[in-house]
Amino acid sequence: MITVSFPDGSSREFEDNRSPLDVAQSIGPRLAQAALAAEVDGQMWDLSRPLPGSCTLRLLTWKDVEGREVYRHSTTHLMAQAVQALYPEARLTVGPPLEDRFYYDIDMPPVSEEDFAAIEAKMHEFAEADLPIAREEVSREQAKVLFAGDQYKLELLEDIPEGQTLTIYRQGDWFDLCRGPHMPSTGRIKAFKLLSVAGAYWRGDASNKQLQRLYGTSYPSQKELDEHLQRLEDAKARDHRKLGRELGLFMFSNDVGPGLPLWLPKGAIVRDTLERFLQKEQQRRGYLPVVTPHIGRKKLYETSGHWETYQDSMFPLMVGEDEFEQFVLKPMNCPHHIQIYKNELRSYRDLPLRLAEFGSVYRYEQSGELNGLTRVRSFTVDDSHLFVAPEQLEDEFRKVVELILFVFQKLELTDYTARVGLRDPDKFIGDIEVWEKAENAIIKAAQELGLKHTIEKGEAAFYGPKLDFIFRDVLGRQWQLGTVQVDYNLPERFGLEYIGSDGQAHRPVMIHRAPFGSLERFIGLLIEHYNGAFPLWLAPTQIKVLPIADRHADYAREVVAELTEAGFRAEFDADNSKIGAKIAIAETQKIPYMAVIGDKEIEAQSVAVRARGRHDLGAMPRADFLAKLRDEEDRGT
Ligand SMILES: [Zn+2]
Ligand SMILES: [Zn+2]
Repeated sequence: MITVSFPDGSSREFEDNRSPLDVAQSIGPRLAQAALAAEVDGQMWDLSRPLPGSCTLRLLTWKDVEGREVYRHSTTHLMAQAVQALYPEARLTVGPPLEDRFYYDIDMPPVSEEDFAAIEAKMHEFAEADLPIAREEVSREQAKVLFAGDQYKLELLEDIPEGQTLTIYRQGDWFDLCRGPHMPSTGRIKAFKLLSVAGAYWRGDASNKQLQRLYGTSYPSQKELDEHLQRLEDAKARDHRKLGRELGLFMFSNDVGPGLPLWLPKGAIVRDTLERFLQKEQQRRGYLPVVTPHIGRKKLYETSGHWETYQDSMFPLMVGEDEFEQFVLKPMNCPHHIQIYKNELRSYRDLPLRLAEFGSVYRYEQSGELNGLTRVRSFTVDDSHLFVAPEQLEDEFRKVVELILFVFQKLELTDYTARVGLRDPDKFIGDIEVWEKAENAIIKAAQELGLKHTIEKGEAAFYGPKLDFIFRDVLGRQWQLGTVQVDYNLPERFGLEYIGSDGQAHRPVMIHRAPFGSLERFIGLLIEHYNGAFPLWLAPTQIKVLPIADRHADYAREVVAELTEAGFRAEFDADNSKIGAKIAIAETQKIPYMAVIGDKEIEAQSVAVRARGRHDLGAMPRADFLAKLRDEEDRGT
């Protein structure tokens, strides 16, 4: 008999050689049906593999990340089996599961999406045959024989350390070198689809042969798969790179360089509007503006520690007149703000000192990692550094979180959670006691503000605990937004002080915070979240005034002038096309309001108003239209 303990603390006795599937069946048929794999004493385990003895058992279902990975990895094998059935010369390399899909890099003749149907049909054939998936331990010698002539698998075998158990997984007469685990049989794979194919190099090295990277995804039901495919379609239509081009918001120039966005007038308006909104709010809350240069001496970053820990992400050094004149393009604004703190002898009466800057920073991301506005090499942080006395930390931290929540509310970002990042025991600098004090202050602030939050050990930066905001957009995708970070380390490194009420020198604590995070990334998110249809207060063009015929142009210009005078961003439509076509264009530009001008409107000194999305609001006096706009904008900001 063996004793199996469960995550809830309970335990039960079983006969020897029972598998996790047997255990699941003894608990109930539904669990046995839902179980995909298991974790036995912390180790991933096949459902049908006998338990090693008394152990702790966690059954994994679709609800578990690991369960989904096993499901998708079994689908990867199904795909590989189908590919090799259709292309016997194909050689398999590696194929890991990703967050919501999988791929396999295969050495085979180039395929296109037209070939997917045949591969999927073969996969269905093997799934319907419900082939048992069997784990088999093999010796290194046996493995070499099994994969003789397969240079990729032989190379992979070399990488596996001596002494590690080697396993292959068989389904039908097909097998693959694999760590596993897998589901018990191919019939458990219910719904799948190949998504795309791309070229990839063996081991990512362009001097190697190009392989076919086949992407696919799978779900436990056709309904869930269809929903996922619909989300992918929606995401494609909302892609900020596509909308950014269509709406004239930003561009990239190969001559300027990859990952260096150029903001076009319309995009710059969105950006400025966001900055002004936050500036105004910060002013109300006691922040002081500062402006600092984009470069600084290398020594500054040696003192801050960034040079040592962050160098890989920094642009190469700039060398000045002599070797001591070495400059760094700033990856962070903190060291500059610290110099401003140090500019004067600070007293406890100066604290908290809140310095704020929309500070541009530069990070040398790998070119392959760059992606639209979400992964760039130059970006602007709505950065602020708060210098506080230790006893002010808790209160000040709460105020920062309040500001962030206020910002989210104004931007209608409602679906978010906060993540408290606590120290990684192997990777932190400073005293455990001060860390604990700060960690407790963060958790307390999150609780007091009723913030939905998770606590994650090991997620802190090396210099202090933090609070991150994770936002879920309309498509259910997660984005990391602003961060609040406590820092006991930089004040120490730079020897920061203030004179306390006791006349003695004390060390302040720093808080780094950025509600938007990177403006580039944040606007990328907003574009996709709003599908390019910004609320009135953020829209680059708020109103387009459309004269029906030439004779209406003067009055239309008068309306534009009146709206502009009132502080709105109104545009005159000088196009010669028919009114229907003009309206259609304004719709594709996602402009919140159109004011159509014809004979009747001139006669009545009114405007015929249409709202974005084909809502005809009818004619209204100009003053009423203006009042309506003012009211909506006030509600927006
Ligand atoms: Zn595998
Ligand atoms: Zn900072």
